[in-house]
Amino acid sequence: MEVYYQSTRQNTHGIEAKAAVLQGISPDGGLYVWPNLGEEKLDLNEVCKSDYKGIASMVFNRLLSGYSQQELEECIDNAYSHTFKVDQPDTITPLATVGDVEVLELFRGPTSAFKDVALTILPWFLSKALAATNKKALILTATSGDTGKAAMSGFQDVDHTGICVFYPDGKVSAVQQKQMASQPGKNVRVFGVQGNFDDAQSMVKKLFLDEELRERLAREQIVLSSANSINIGRLIPQIVYYFDAYRQLVCKGKIAIGDSVSFSVPTGNFGDVLAGYYASLMGLPVEKFYVASNANNVLTDFLKTGVYDRNRPFIQTISPSMDILISSNLERLLYYASGKETDKVAGWMNDLATKGFYELDKQTKEIIQSMFKGGYYEDEALRKTIKDTYDATGYVLDPHTAAAYALAKEARKDSKVPVIALATASPYKFTQDVLEALGISQEDPWKAMEQLSAMHDDPIPAPLAALQNAPILHDAVIAPEEMKESVAAKALEIFQ
Ligand SMILES: *Cc1c(COP(=O)(O)O)cnc(C)c1O
Repeated sequence: MEVYYQSTRQNTHGIEAKAAVLQGISPDGGLYVWPNLGEEKLDLNEVCKSDYKGIASMVFNRLLSGYSQQELEECIDNAYSHTFKVDQPDTITPLATVGDVEVLELFRGPTSAFKDVALTILPWFLSKALAATNKKALILTATSGDTGKAAMSGFQDVDHTGICVFYPDGKVSAVQQKQMASQPGKNVRVFGVQGNFDDAQSMVKKLFLDEELRERLAREQIVLSSANSINIGRLIPQIVYYFDAYRQLVCKGKIAIGDSVSFSVPTGNFGDVLAGYYASLMGLPVEKFYVASNANNVLTDFLKTGVYDRNRPFIQTISPSMDILISSNLERLLYYASGKETDKVAGWMNDLATKGFYELDKQTKEIIQSMFKGGYYEDEALRKTIKDTYDATGYVLDPHTAAAYALAKEARKDSKVPVIALATASPYKFTQDVLEALGISQEDPWKAMEQLSAMHDDPIPAPLAALQNAPILHDAVIAPEEMKESVAAKALEIFQ
């Protein structure tokens, strides 16, 4: 079946997958969706006979028509053959049994964060889409710490692409700063920006809208692009590990093919859990999705009441990647759950932009509540979960995973089906907070890693261990007003 992507906000004629990957967001502000998703299911018997890369191939062939089979195989191979460090040969996202919950480890990639699963392959999807056009793409990313590193690592030396990352100088952790400053790659540039994250972020948004910059770059066949989590090229790779988790449970003899399972997902922008919903539309038997949040509990309230209300204080927590008040990818769930009523979706999104809240109709609300249940945990509860889990099992959770694990435990009490909690970061990415939860305070981040590694079986990931002595390759610090000229100059340098 040919696949065409259209906006969540308007029934326009669709565009091909390659164009959707290049554009990222629809010009009307909506997100790209494929209306017929779910009309053809994946064959679970085939899935369970396959391995991670085989399942990736099935999912991508279904959703990325326009890419040849060979192009997709090259993307899969480049992204997943040498980058993830796991013992099992058949997966890149292993399943660990921790107490009575299955933990899906998504953090075995190059930067020890689950975003690696998508950011290792998105650059190759982009590169193949660009190859047909003779254009080159310069990715601009403002980062509060984590996404920038995962994006640079993914784009490093990928043909037809370059990347400029901007982080707030002095406002990221010592480890994050070192991760970015030591990033190699001929097509990679990193800048500290004076000010805070919002200053860098607003300037990046301005640069995307700057006609003069656009024209200047267009003369060199360069387009500006983003690696944002609303791009279908980031969403689709995440569907794969839901099927692969199911396959692993079948292989372990814990379920039979056709049995249902539930997932508990630490959620920020709603991309990860939405990919699970896509997997269920494509035939994965899922009973419930548990949406785990931290003290920023806008989604927990939404799933209970059908009212999404962002008018509340923003709270900084020990699980910063979930400190979000606007979950962009939720828009795609609204599209499918409302019966593809683009006018309704556009109305809700307009309410959100103008009033800061919207309310679902009864029917859409009930459809969503039949599949999704929310729960949230404040920092103290997350610390307690980390401590209790370590004491009971010896397994160390990071603060994001702890939210999913706590909610999975809760669900397990009255659930007859296995619950799989998604582990989105290595505890070594948040070592000091994790150690503190375990009752140890350590000021030095490098010593903290060693202390944590002495406490359990899982060694420090090699890239993090190597970081302390890695050479600094980027040390520029600029003012926000200098970002535009820096981008223009670096674009020429990278693509000369
Ligand atoms: C990004 C991130 C999340 C949230 O994922 P979404 O797709 O935005 O819901 C959760 N945990 C970690 C560690 C992350 O980096």
